[in-house]
Amino acid sequence: MQTRNERYQGCLIGGAIGDALGWPVEFLKLDEINRKYGPKGITNLEKGRSNLVEITDDTQMTIFTTEGLLRAANRGRNRGIGHIPSVVHRSYLRWLNTQGVTSDVEKDGWIYSIEGLHTRRAPGNTCLDALMSGKMGTMEEPINNSKGCGGVMRTAPIGLFYKKEQAFKLGCESAAITHGHPSGYLSAGALSYIIAAIIEGLDLEIAAEQALIECEKYPYSEECNKLIQKAISLSKSDKPDLQAIESLGEGWVGEEALAVSIYCALKYKNNFEKAVITAVNHDGDSDSTGAITGNILGAYLGIKGIPENWVREIELSEELTQLAEDLVKTYEDSEEWHEKYPGW
Ligand SMILES: [Mg+2]
Repeated sequence: MQTRNERYQGCLIGGAIGDALGWPVEFLKLDEINRKYGPKGITNLEKGRSNLVEITDDTQMTIFTTEGLLRAANRGRNRGIGHIPSVVHRSYLRWLNTQGVTSDVEKDGWIYSIEGLHTRRAPGNTCLDALMSGKMGTMEEPINNSKGCGGVMRTAPIGLFYKKEQAFKLGCESAAITHGHPSGYLSAGALSYIIAAIIEGLDLEIAAEQALIECEKYPYSEECNKLIQKAISLSKSDKPDLQAIESLGEGWVGEEALAVSIYCALKYKNNFEKAVITAVNHDGDSDSTGAITGNILGAYLGIKGIPENWVREIELSEELTQLAEDLVKTYEDSEEWHEKYPGW
C-alpha cells in the first residue's frame, strides 16, 4: 500500500515523465517516430535543447494549478472560503508571464521564482489566447468553443486536493477558464475525479467507471462519456494497442487525450514504463497523452512504481517532490508558507 506522499509524488512526477517522454515526438507521425527511433518507437527519456530531460506546458500548467489550490487553501484559512477557480485563474496568469507575455498579476510566491519554469515548450494557443483576453471563462459563460486537451492536461492535482465529486466540479471549472466546449472541460473534471478516486484507494477500473457516472450528471456529456466507455472496454479486449489507440483518436482534444490515457493506464496498470511508452508512440499529441497516463498511473502505483533513473533524470524533480509534500500538508501556519503560497 502506497503512502499518501508516495502517491502524490507519483502523480506529479509520473505526469512530468510522460510529458518529457512524449515531447520529442509530439509533432511526429508514427512512421516518422519509427524511422527515427526504430520499431518500438521512443522508449527512453531524451535530453532536449537545454540539455535537460524537458517537461513542457502540460507539466508547467499542472504546477500552476497546484499553486492555485495551495494559494486558495491559504486564503480560505485566513479570509474565509473564496472563489477557488478565480485563484487558479491568477496562477495561470502567472504561468502566462513565464511564457513571456506580461499579465496583470502579482509575480510573487515560490513557483514563479523557479527559473526552470520560465521557458516556452510549445504552449497551446487556446490557453495563451484565453489568458491574454483579460476574461475568465466559466462553464456558464464559455470563453470560446475549444475542446483542445489544454484543460485536461493540467487538472490532475485537483484530485490530490479534493474529494471525488468536488474534484470533478473544480476540474471542470479550472479547465473552463480557457476551454469552453463541454468535452474540453468535462474531460478535465473526469481526470480530477479519477485521481481523487485512486487516492481514496479505489482500483483503476472502478475509478474510471465511477467518473463516467459522475460525468453523466452534467449537460452535454455524451461525447466525452462515449469515449471513456470505449477506452475502458478496449482495455479489456485483445485488440493491438496501435489499433485501439487509433480508434480513440489522436488526443489533440480533451476527450480523446483522456480516453487514450485511460486505455494505456488500464491496459498496463502494473507497468508504468510500458503504459507511458504505449501512450506516446502514435500519430497524435504524445506529450499530453504521456502526461495524463503518467498522472494516473503515478498516483496508482506511487513514486516507487516509477523507474528510479527516470525520477532522477526528469527536469525539476526536486521541485515536484517538494510540491507534492506541500500538497500533502495542504497548509502550514508559518511565515515561510505565506511567502511560498500567498493567498491571492
Ligand atoms: Mg506540451
